[in-house]
Amino acid sequence: MRVHELARELGLRSSQDILDKLHEHGMQLKNHMSPLTDEQVDIIRKAFPKSATPTPAVLPKPEPQKKTILVRGPIIVKEFAEQLGLKPNQLIAELMMMNIFASINERVDLKIAQQIAEKHGFSFEHEKKIIERKPVTKAPEPAVEPTEDKNEDLATRPPIVTFMGHVDHGKTSLLDKIRNTKVAAGEDGGITQHIGAYTVTINERQITFLDTPGHAAFTQMRARGANLTDIAVIIVDAQDGIMPQTREAIQHARAAKVALMVAINKIDLRGANVDRVKTQLQKEGLAPEDWGGTTICCPVSALTGAGLDHLLEMILLQADMLELKANPGRRAQGYVIEARLEPGMGPTANIVVKRGTLKVGDAITCGPYWGRVKALISDKGIKVRTAGPSLAVKVLGLTAVPEPGMEFQVQANDRVAREMSETALEEKRKQEIAVTPKRLTLDDLMKPASSQAREARKLRLILKGDVQGSLEAIQNSLAGIKSDKVVLDILLASVGNVSSNDVLLARASEAIIIGFHVGKDDGVNATAKREGVEIRLYSIIYELLDEVRNAMVGLLEPIVKQTVVGHAEVLQVFEISRKGTVAGCRCTDGKLTSRARARVKRKGDLLFEGSLISLKRFQNDAAEVRESQECGLRLDNFSSFQPGDIIECFEVEKIAQQL
Ligand code: GDP
Repeated sequence: MRVHELARELGLRSSQDILDKLHEHGMQLKNHMSPLTDEQVDIIRKAFPKSATPTPAVLPKPEPQKKTILVRGPIIVKEFAEQLGLKPNQLIAELMMMNIFASINERVDLKIAQQIAEKHGFSFEHEKKIIERKPVTKAPEPAVEPTEDKNEDLATRPPIVTFMGHVDHGKTSLLDKIRNTKVAAGEDGGITQHIGAYTVTINERQITFLDTPGHAAFTQMRARGANLTDIAVIIVDAQDGIMPQTREAIQHARAAKVALMVAINKIDLRGANVDRVKTQLQKEGLAPEDWGGTTICCPVSALTGAGLDHLLEMILLQADMLELKANPGRRAQGYVIEARLEPGMGPTANIVVKRGTLKVGDAITCGPYWGRVKALISDKGIKVRTAGPSLAVKVLGLTAVPEPGMEFQVQANDRVAREMSETALEEKRKQEIAVTPKRLTLDDLMKPASSQAREARKLRLILKGDVQGSLEAIQNSLAGIKSDKVVLDILLASVGNVSSNDVLLARASEAIIIGFHVGKDDGVNATAKREGVEIRLYSIIYELLDEVRNAMVGLLEPIVKQTVVGHAEVLQVFEISRKGTVAGCRCTDGKLTSRARARVKRKGDLLFEGSLISLKRFQNDAAEVRESQECGLRLDNFSSFQPGDIIECFEVEKIAQQL
């Protein structure tokens, strides 16, 4: 028996509990797949008797939650009654009992409304607070529910899986095979619907597969801010082995920091060589589990179905390790994967729920649009009333067609959803007029003031080269730029022209594309412009290295150095009616310069620090005044000079930090 099997049998929340317990007994096991001896099984059975709370195999039905009434601005009897599920005259009667006489269109005091809401079992929130906490400034970013989830509200959710890999290695065939063998069985009625994702049930647990395989789609979603995938399964043809796009897929998945697994497909073919693929994987830093590494590799055949059950089990195991959780009890939030206008249905959006439970009747915002959920259709073509975390559904009822990758969010009620949508649309219109997307460019980074750069302290690069050899040379030279203050993160290094895929990866990861002796694919310029991604092409390696080094330096805040250049003593003060107060001074040491800054000190106390606005000698502007010369000076925002004050002149220099 293996660790994960025992964990499941005992209903433990995570197989890590077993590893920890055995560790206490001085036994080190490698991971969740490790086999257990009888003695170890005994220890664990004693430590975790089976009565312990079992892990929910499927998502538990959410506890009925205390509903929240959200109000914004004045609370009007009619609307408030609606929110409470009362008739207006019932509410009026209730108010009368509290000695408040209000008609249907009158306001209710906030405190009174709160008391009534609580009496009816609602929690009460004033919308103003929420709007303030997360104002709708960006169009695709609707306000979120104010509270973070509590630990006890979290329940295990199904993993969301994307297949990636080289073209023709069998991604689509595998998706189809799994769907055909696992979805159809046991489902009553309904015609399979392609809604961008589907969910299968294995041993009473669920897995959601995103229907558009490949790293292009994956990264496109990421570039739009939708990080849906939990597990990327890299599909490798057992005959062809690792190919360029396999590498790319691995790099895209790594850049997204999702869990990685491998399926070695087409094992039914004569030329299939699983061991050869495993050797190649090892070279890519994905050492297979059964060879002492950590990457789960499953030999499969989409044609015969061999190994599919094992693959699905391993996906569940990987999910166990990730301990994926979500609160099914809150208002739903998630992302659009596809959307269109469908005859007879109006705008429809295929969405995946990330947390919460989406219900028919919910008021939702979706990107800058809103709607009330009229119907939900599952991947099995069945009308459903709810969709919980990690499930995909088609949503009917939106007022417009959103774009893939847009976030959706259930709002308190139609009014809030509509208002948020109006604000977001207004914002969108403004942005369309004014804004080109925010670019992260090398020049930006070289400017020390770039706040985005300052926070990041990480320069992410995508390297494209003409041949593997030059890429390696560049990577080696870049690795030679030593810095403990800035991290250079190479997300992808591959041979070939800069492609739209590279641009999307750069956008999703806030990276810059550096090309060496390569060009750009058709259409890349337009994509890069739209996504606000910078591409720099070089043909001289030293130029490339210099600019990367400068960009790294630019990420560091400069050191501000002040140097006192001279002092002056105030001898006389003149009031010049139009211009204000002029201090007549003598330079006592060093020099005064018109571009310097100044401090005013009186008997050692600092009175003021600011800029000089004029420096004159004999009525003429002077750039510099030297020791023992006399001058008249004025300061910006300071006029109460007294004879005897000391003016200290200093220069401020910003010095770039060393890496
Ligand atoms: P994708 O481009 O990665 O989505 O690959 P496809 O799923 O379109 O498969 C490419 C080709 O490989 C098709 O002709 C499939 O029939 C074939 N194929 C896929 N999986 C297998 C398999 O397990 N065994 C064999 N013999 N052929 C397969």
